[in-house]
Amino acid sequence: QQKDAGWNLDNSYARLPEVFFTKTNPTPVPAPELVIFNDTLASSLGLNADALKTDDGVSVMAGNKIPEEASPIAQAYAGHQFGNLTMLGDGRAVLISEQITPSGERFDIQLKGSGRTPYSRGGDGRATLGPMLREYIISEAMYALGIPTTRGLAVVTTGEDVIRETNLPGAILTRIATSHIRVGTFQYAAGSDNPDEVKELADYTIKRHFPEVEGEDAQYLLLLKKVVERQARLVANWQLVGFIHGVMNTDNMAISGETIDYGPCAFMDNYDPVTVFSSIDRQGRYAFRNQPPIAGWNLARFAETLLPLLHENQDEAVKLAQDAISEFTVLHQANWLSGMRKKLGLFNEEEEDQSLIQNLLNMMEKHRADYTNTFRGLTFEKYDEVDLFNSEAFKNWQASWQERLARQQESKTDSRELMKNNNPAVIPRNHRVEEALEAAVEKADYSVLERLLKVLSNPYGHTPEQTEYCKPAPPSSNPYQTYC
Ligand code: AMP
Ligand code: MG
Ligand code: MG
Repeated sequence: QQKDAGWNLDNSYARLPEVFFTKTNPTPVPAPELVIFNDTLASSLGLNADALKTDDGVSVMAGNKIPEEASPIAQAYAGHQFGNLTMLGDGRAVLISEQITPSGERFDIQLKGSGRTPYSRGGDGRATLGPMLREYIISEAMYALGIPTTRGLAVVTTGEDVIRETNLPGAILTRIATSHIRVGTFQYAAGSDNPDEVKELADYTIKRHFPEVEGEDAQYLLLLKKVVERQARLVANWQLVGFIHGVMNTDNMAISGETIDYGPCAFMDNYDPVTVFSSIDRQGRYAFRNQPPIAGWNLARFAETLLPLLHENQDEAVKLAQDAISEFTVLHQANWLSGMRKKLGLFNEEEEDQSLIQNLLNMMEKHRADYTNTFRGLTFEKYDEVDLFNSEAFKNWQASWQERLARQQESKTDSRELMKNNNPAVIPRNHRVEEALEAAVEKADYSVLERLLKVLSNPYGHTPEQTEYCKPAPPSSNPYQTYC
């Protein structure tokens, strides 16, 4: 007797005009094996973990079997890659279907690494185990940090090697997202000769993500404003935890406001605003400090696609779009400042908070202080782990911070509680992630990865078993680099 996996599928995207996708099945793989599975995510989706872990379930996550009600497609999109507009599309992913959860929410079920599609161009359509596990780890860490993100339901190995510089084990990630609609999807629609296509996509997006604006007079302007709001919050969240996305091309920016496409991303250790990890980002276009302006730039590309829908008069439309886009900087700054206040235990607002924060960051930069551990040290008033804390400049700063804390009504205990909930103990530190991937890929030992995932699932826990994971990487002569 086979247990029901709990699929409750609908294919709303496949009901859009055909230009938005191509019906494509995953390419079967020889010997699928489940290596990691997300039980809690499965259950929140209304899926049966036990059933998905059987051969039958695994064959679905390997692309060897299609659930009955599914209608797999590869989605079409375009994108500015490092500033250059290119036609793209799912070249190595297939949207299997959309799962409707017991509470009525809709999530894309996507297989990443599932073989060639009409959008593969020269690529093989495949993914390797290390990067798929890396996406799984970092997206789960982001989720636990409270940052909107796509998530990983499972990783399966395919039993097939993928040819890169060397032969590497192939793998498929089952990715869950509230949708995979990107800024690049709108750019793709806007590039067509048919002016109705952007409208179809905008209407679909409103229904799916912003039903509260549906039918409003200015619904497309409201759509733009909502997307700006969500991105302002998202990128502020990244900046607050020291996350560097690494490849903020417009095709990697989700309209939903979720972090998407964990390629060369990494968390910053020492605070340095110009940090870049990605080996291909030679100009530092996507450096840490550039993330907010790049998000604004990407949103301007999004706004351009909506111009025909914003106003009959295109001069008026441009004005409306510009006003909406200029709000991004304001909203981002407000979100960031509010988050920084929390990181410093501040409940109310004072004019000078901005400079208090900036002074701290300047000192951190000068002393190459560990970003996460500086805030953790401040939280617990444990001043032994970070060199910066021994400096005269820090002692002066600390005095003004203590005075600032004393000027608010809340107690020291309240402040510490606020700080504990906003300053993570653990982030996916690069050396820890690498160590977990190495054990998994080289030795098929998943215990290191499982332990890491457990620790990362409770970043604000500040528990004793996390202490080991709080340590910065041992000094190394090679700067950390990430690859797509
Ligand atoms: P990314 O850099 O992951 O955002 O991918 C950019 C584009 O390249 C997307 O259209 C991907 O689908 C495509 N792509 C990346 N890797 C492959 C691959 N191995 N085979 C085919 N297409 C790929
Ligand atoms: Mg991408
Ligand atoms: Mg990628």
